[in-house]
Amino acid sequence: MYYGSGNYEAFARPLKPANVNSKRAYIVGTGLAALTAACYLVRDGQMKGEHITIFEKESLAGGACDGFLYPEVGYIMRGGREMDNHFEVMWDLFRDIPSIETEGVSVLDEYYWLNKRDPNYSLMRATQKCGQDGQTNGEFGLSDDGAKEIMKLFFTPDEQLYNRPITDFFSEEVLNANFWLYWRTMFAFQNWHSALEMKLYLKRFIHHVGGLPDFKALRFTKYNQYESMILPMVKYLESHDVNFVFNTKVVDVDFEITADKKQATKIYINKDGNDEQIDLTANDLVFITHGGCVENSTYGSQDKKAEFKPELKAGGGWDMWKRIASKNEAFGRPDKFCSNPEKTNWMSATVTTLDQKIVPYIEKICQRDPFSGGVVTGGIVTVKDSNWLLSWTFNRQPQFRTQPKDQLVGWIYGLFSDKAGNYVKKPMRECSGKEICMEWLYHMGVPTSEIEELATNSANTVPVMMPYVTAFFMPRQGGDRPDVVPEKAVNFAFLGQFAETKRDTIFTTEYSMRTGMEAVYTLLDIDRAVPEVWGSTYDVRDLLNASYRLRDNKKITEMKMSFIEKIVLKKVLKTIKGTDLEVLLKEHNLI
Ligand SMILES: Cc1cc2nc3c(=O)[nH]c(=O)nc-3n(C[C@H](O)[C@H](O)[C@H](O)COP(=O)(O)OP(=O)(O)OC[C@H]3O[C@@H](n4cnc5c(N)ncnc54)[C@H](O)[C@@H]3O)c2cc1C
Repeated sequence: MYYGSGNYEAFARPLKPANVNSKRAYIVGTGLAALTAACYLVRDGQMKGEHITIFEKESLAGGACDGFLYPEVGYIMRGGREMDNHFEVMWDLFRDIPSIETEGVSVLDEYYWLNKRDPNYSLMRATQKCGQDGQTNGEFGLSDDGAKEIMKLFFTPDEQLYNRPITDFFSEEVLNANFWLYWRTMFAFQNWHSALEMKLYLKRFIHHVGGLPDFKALRFTKYNQYESMILPMVKYLESHDVNFVFNTKVVDVDFEITADKKQATKIYINKDGNDEQIDLTANDLVFITHGGCVENSTYGSQDKKAEFKPELKAGGGWDMWKRIASKNEAFGRPDKFCSNPEKTNWMSATVTTLDQKIVPYIEKICQRDPFSGGVVTGGIVTVKDSNWLLSWTFNRQPQFRTQPKDQLVGWIYGLFSDKAGNYVKKPMRECSGKEICMEWLYHMGVPTSEIEELATNSANTVPVMMPYVTAFFMPRQGGDRPDVVPEKAVNFAFLGQFAETKRDTIFTTEYSMRTGMEAVYTLLDIDRAVPEVWGSTYDVRDLLNASYRLRDNKKITEMKMSFIEKIVLKKVLKTIKGTDLEVLLKEHNLI
């Protein structure tokens, strides 16, 4: 497997890999990573679909990417995906996955046209004081010292960030600035999370810094991601006769490990309550999605809280990883990620409006007609003064294909599930859907006399608790995650958010899909480049633009500097006068 970029590799079709007709594939999970692996086995590996078997412990495909109408409970989507034009693997694959909405076009075309016609941006990034403008004014609000802390982290080698929290690098200068409000609510970072991950994110999305305050950096699918992404992939795979086996837990995998090779030899499954084993040869490839950000997630209802149940059980992603990890040190250290659910949980809630009474409050904040079919909030709206650090969003409506035309379905989330609310004086994790809706309505500016009535009769709200949703953000070091294909592995790979691949950032759809592509390309030795992670961190134009935007459009000369620094800068500017370097700095407004 090797990386490449540019059109030459992007548009070439690889030759059929040697001996692929004699190989079979067993895939654990039906999340984006697993479905991507299956799609690449079919498209580029040219493996027959009937040679591919996918085991899923749940009764539906999709993993973290859900979006269903549960009878008696209501619409639920645990999350909504902020996405990017430079999710290189995603678009490499989706250009060939047929849309299930429009005949004859790909999922990529559908998404491209939608976001071209109706670009995303927010007109109100944050609120405060019950629905008033949060006065972030599109600014990052960083002091020069704060900007230097970010710069320092950006240039600190990974090894120096191992096992260290963000608070080792950012002081109150950064943590109290709008920058951190935008960042942690957009990406769900907590102050105690990994400094290494923070650095990787800064580098990965440096080209988007200017688009962070108003979300013009983002793009969204038409419907929830189950319907817009998972279903087209499942249909594509079914049309190639791939076998989906639901309600089947993969409990463990055995390996033969010698100095020369590591080979998976047996899969232990539990299907509909019955234990079975599958013996493997070197021609049987195993793709394992281990761990999981939505493992142990629970949902409540309008009148019931979502229980916090972090205990790990056999047949789940974490238990399986623990068993596998105990067999070789190259298989990672799951305990690093799943041992402290108090530090890795947060909650979301899906709210469905049932009549028109709440709509004007949404409209007042998003400043758009929520029923227009176009962008509504344009990304999350963060309630700056919420004890739960609540954010909420309504994406383009309808979010579900079956959704009634006069209803809106939106998403609320809170980063602190253990803190009492400002209006509902209970921790979010103790609240029913209705109570979460009440807290949200309070922050939207609904008069207190109307809050309970609206939350009861004008909305249906379903809470979801996710004890491990940010498990991958826990401070870590090299080796805590197994490589996608561990050294000397001949017939198995790890997939998803807890597999190690270079430079990409976890908690993204792209990360999972990348692991799927890299796994297949490595194990089948497919002779075409995997698109490298977008290289903006090496593009001086993006770096200059980010420096200008992060400092709220200030020139270098306006930076707080010591006397000596001022003299040095003067000298540098004199030296570059009349060169392309001066032109570059001027083009990016830095001088
Ligand atoms: C609330 C939320 C918000 C998000 N927001 C964004 C966003 O804004 N932008 C973005 O790009 N990404 C976002 N993500 C991340 C993205 O959705 C996930 O990273 C991605 O979908 C994970 O895919 P995966 O295949 O790696 O893992 P999963 O989706 O977790 O899939 C793993 C699958 O394996 C199955 N499985 C696990 N163990 C076993 C076993 N032992 N036997 C059988 N089956 C098993 C599971 O049931 C599951 O179906 C968000 C995720 C969540 C939860």
